[in-house]
Amino acid sequence: MSDPKDSFAAISHELKEKNVSLVAVSKTKPGTMIEDIYKKGQLDFGENYVQELVEKQEQLPEDIRWHFIGHLQRNKVKYIAPFVHLIQSVDSEKLLKEINKQALKCNRQIDCLLQLHIAEEDTKTGLDVAEFDALLPNLSQYTNIRIKGLMGISTLTGDQQQVRKEFKKLKTLFDRGNQSELIQNSWSVISMGMSADYKMAIEEGSTMVRIGSLLFGAR
Ligand SMILES: *Cc1c(COP(=O)(O)O)cnc(C)c1O
Repeated sequence: MSDPKDSFAAISHELKEKNVSLVAVSKTKPGTMIEDIYKKGQLDFGENYVQELVEKQEQLPEDIRWHFIGHLQRNKVKYIAPFVHLIQSVDSEKLLKEINKQALKCNRQIDCLLQLHIAEEDTKTGLDVAEFDALLPNLSQYTNIRIKGLMGISTLTGDQQQVRKEFKKLKTLFDRGNQSELIQNSWSVISMGMSADYKMAIEEGSTMVRIGSLLFGAR
C-alpha cells in the first residue's frame, strides 16, 4: 500500500464505502499524474497556488472540479473565479467580499468553505471562533456565494490526542453553523483529514478528505 501507484483504488474504495468525498491534492505534481487518476474516475483535485491552478486548468480536461485549498490573496481571486469548483480556504470577510464581487462579474455562484483555525500552531491560517461567530450573521448578504461548510487543518504532530481534539472542535463548530437559521440548506461539508490523519478525521465526522502524498508520493 505504500506504492502510490496502487493507492488510488484502495483509498477511493474505502472512502466510497464511508460516503466521504476525496479531493486529490495535486499541488506541485505534473498534469500527467493528474490524468492518470482522472482516467480512473477521479474528478476532484485540490491546488494551493493560483498560478499553478490556472495553468493546469487550461491544460487538463474541462470536467475536472478544481478546489482551491491554499491561502488566497484577494488580488488573485479574479484568476480562478471563472472556473473554480470550491474555494475551501476563506479566512476573512474581506476575502469573501472579493469572491462575491468576482462571482458577480462572472455571473456565477461560487461555492466556498470557511477555513477555521483549529491547530496549535500560529502559522496556520483560518478564522478563530470569535471571527466565525461574527461572520455567520453576515453570510446571507453575499448573494453570489454559497457557503457549504467548514475546512480545517490539524496540527502537524504525532500526538494523536491533540489531532483528535482539533477534529472534534471543527465538528462542534460545524454543528453550530448547522443550527444557525442564518445558513441556507447548502451547509453540508466538513473538509478535514489529510494523508496522515484522514482515518481519524472520518471517525470524527469528516465528509471530505484532502489527500496528496498518499496518492501521488511525497512532495
Ligand atoms: C498539501 C495539502 C493537503 C494534502 O496533504 P498530504 O499530507 O500530502 O495529504 C491537504 N490540505 C491542504 C490544505 C494542503 O495544503
